[in-house]
Amino acid sequence: MGRLEGKNSIITGAAGGIGLETSILFAQNGANVLMSDINAVQLDKAVAKVKQFAPNSKVEGFVCDVSKEDQVEEMVKKTDAWGGLDVIFNNAGIMHAKDDDAVNTPEAIWDLTQNINVKGVWFGCKHAVLAFRRHNKKKASVINTASVVALVGSATPQLAYTASKGAVLALTRELAIVHAREGFRFNNLCPAPLNTPLLQDWLGDDKAKRHRREVHFPTGRFGEAIEQAHMVVFLASDDASFVTGQEMIVDGGMTKAYVTPEGPAIAAPL
Ligand code: NAD
Repeated sequence: MGRLEGKNSIITGAAGGIGLETSILFAQNGANVLMSDINAVQLDKAVAKVKQFAPNSKVEGFVCDVSKEDQVEEMVKKTDAWGGLDVIFNNAGIMHAKDDDAVNTPEAIWDLTQNINVKGVWFGCKHAVLAFRRHNKKKASVINTASVVALVGSATPQLAYTASKGAVLALTRELAIVHAREGFRFNNLCPAPLNTPLLQDWLGDDKAKRHRREVHFPTGRFGEAIEQAHMVVFLASDDASFVTGQEMIVDGGMTKAYVTPEGPAIAAPL
């Protein structure tokens, strides 16, 4: 028996990175997975990959822009035919290259980032709660992807992104409290920078920039998406039945480390 046996699940931003690795692990743990993403081409490839890793699982793709409520509603309703939603992982998000400081962040980038990273998460939560109620679920789990930048300041100017992830943290905490008596759990996943296309796009080929970031990790390396996925499986599972309203920080100790200008205070094998 897998830890998520028979749980009807939706994962957004599932075409790559954390979403794809989590989809594989969900399917391998017995969940039925509706993988969703705005990128139809990558999503098709990702669905095929999950089926390869978990051949006996029920896995489907659904193209959806999480910032459009009608599309999110349709996505969630797709699981009605499966017996109703049990788990949603609101993971889709963007970090825009033009995101900057107080003065230089373009308003359009601010709006775009909040629309996808915050409003998209709210829409996912809203239609999940409606589905849980529609199917009379007495226990259900929502996991929202925030970031460590919601907890500690980042020297990289990315105002819109940081503000959006702070909002995800507060939104999730609030929903955990209001819906707790219904048996619906809400938790945040707070990853530190990891090896995904999102980070790669941002770092480009700048090796020095990569090294300057890696030095902040006591572990001396970025995390891998699969290391986030394991936490999401736990939060989705009944093993986490008393865990709600929490920020689950999966960061290789980054937010706990004091870093001097010369490098980490803790001797790490860099
Ligand atoms: P990724 O770019 O590989 O995945 C993000 C996915 O979201 C992509 O497949 C993209 O097509 C999809 N997406 C973008 N806009 C969308 C929209 N409007 N509707 C639906 N899907 C959309 O990156 P990732 O690192 O796997 O990111 C997943 C989440 O983790 C994001 O919320 C990101 O902010 C967060 N995060 C990432 C890191 C990191 O270092 N990679 C660190 C902390 C938090």
